[in-house]
Amino acid sequence: LTLSVAAVLAESAARHADRTAITVGGQGTTYAQLWEQARAYAGALRDAGIGENDRVAVLIPNVTDFARVYYAVLSLGAVVVPIHALLKRHEIAYVLEDAAAGLMICAAPLLGEGAAGAEQAGVPTYSVLAPEEAGTDRLEDRAAAAVPIDDYLPRHPEDIATILYTSGTTGKPKGALGTHLALVEQTNAMLLDTLDLRPGDRLFGGLPLFHTFGQTAVLNCGLRAGAEILLLPRFTGPEALDLVLGHGVNVFFGVPTMYVALLEAAAAGEGRPDALRYAVSGGASLPVALLEAFEERFGAKVYEGYGLTETSPVACFNRVGRDPRPGTVGTPIWGVQVEIADPLETGRIDLLPRGELGEIVVRGHNLFSGYLNRPEATAEAVVDGWFRTGDLGTKDDDDYVRIVDRTKDMILRNGYNVYPREVEEALLEHPGITNAAVYGVPDEKHGQEVAAAITVDAAAGLDAAAVKEWIAGRLAAYKYPRRVEIVAEFPLGPSGKILKRELAARHDQQFA
Ligand code: ATP
Repeated sequence: LTLSVAAVLAESAARHADRTAITVGGQGTTYAQLWEQARAYAGALRDAGIGENDRVAVLIPNVTDFARVYYAVLSLGAVVVPIHALLKRHEIAYVLEDAAAGLMICAAPLLGEGAAGAEQAGVPTYSVLAPEEAGTDRLEDRAAAAVPIDDYLPRHPEDIATILYTSGTTGKPKGALGTHLALVEQTNAMLLDTLDLRPGDRLFGGLPLFHTFGQTAVLNCGLRAGAEILLLPRFTGPEALDLVLGHGVNVFFGVPTMYVALLEAAAAGEGRPDALRYAVSGGASLPVALLEAFEERFGAKVYEGYGLTETSPVACFNRVGRDPRPGTVGTPIWGVQVEIADPLETGRIDLLPRGELGEIVVRGHNLFSGYLNRPEATAEAVVDGWFRTGDLGTKDDDDYVRIVDRTKDMILRNGYNVYPREVEEALLEHPGITNAAVYGVPDEKHGQEVAAAITVDAAAGLDAAAVKEWIAGRLAAYKYPRRVEIVAEFPLGPSGKILKRELAARHDQQFA
């Protein structure tokens, strides 16, 4: 059996040649052009010595070149190592060295940190998006001088297509090895069973493509479906709103912080999108109040899914077009088993009966094949073929999964478990609170104390003391946040998720 993620573009180029594949800032590229450009880039990479299983690092924001380079590397049977656009030089050097990258392709605006990181790691770099006079080694010049490849090289299912680094909460980032099977199987399952994507659909492309959610759900599924992806090089609420209201986006994809930003941007105006069919959320829990506010303001349903980098990413989903259940992440997708296991450190996977709370474990074609260079971390994470997610949840009688929280985010106050997500949902019921992040901080008396950072609607005139008093009246005494801080904005990770560990660290400094 052979298959390749590169076939996503190659086959769509044959079927949808003249349709627009990607648009950035009003500039469209058709499927035929995109595949031709990817084959030309692949010719240049081949001439640079890149072949099967070689790793090519890609430090490019959401622009068309990301897709050109991604499919060029995959076409050669080489491995894509995307680098988060916000990383600093030492972090970049760490990834390049850990992945033993043979080459880095870097977008000109990111060359400051990128070139420094590559130099530290001794990795040659080609640029994209650089003007000729900048004097960089440009991939497009190399491509112009090379013979394009004819076609992609077929791969075996277990061959590695991507290495995606997840930062985790402890230690250095780990490279999750994504196989061609896992990635192709995800597009099969998502397109046949989960999403409803049609040729000509216009997908919102604000999720970063270097992260698993944007890469699989938007890039690979979108192109395989013959849709048009409207990329946003850098997500902002107003720009996202402009794409949704003014450019006919009909399917929106985002992490919850993007929903907040979009609603904030929309608060000032009246316009409703006429094209929007539905929206998809994942990556972090979508509070029900936020889901409802979005549905009311934009007149389109929101479908929430759940997954991780290691599960390529989707494990569960509320199927598009069927009755979604807000507050759940839907049911396991096609070909994927999701169960609840005893979270005790027994070293075994003991599956629990329905309805019981435990660690979510996942098994199926969608699993990664391990962490690069880290057999111990892999053995800890994958037990009897089950991947331990580190998330706590339940599964009900008809298979709907609820995420209670990350094990590592759970707060232990006075011997009681407090689940930040529950406190966040309660805070968001206040009409003046626009977003909330609840986290634990060390406390001498109670072990840990519950702290909340919130953003508020300026018009509501709220202060921290008023919020504390209000929430104390709505949650049990051991749960409500004793420390409430109003912030202008949250520290966000590269995929747009709130970085609670940074909030906690900041808090330690402030209150030390
Ligand atoms: P990193 O490790 O790179 O800092 P991360 O841990 O967020 O980031 P990802 O693979 O991007 O890594 O995210 C997976 C995690 O996101 C899951 O373990 C889960 O905690 C959370 N998550 C994803 N979807 C949902 C959802 N719908 N509801 C709640 N949590 C979710």
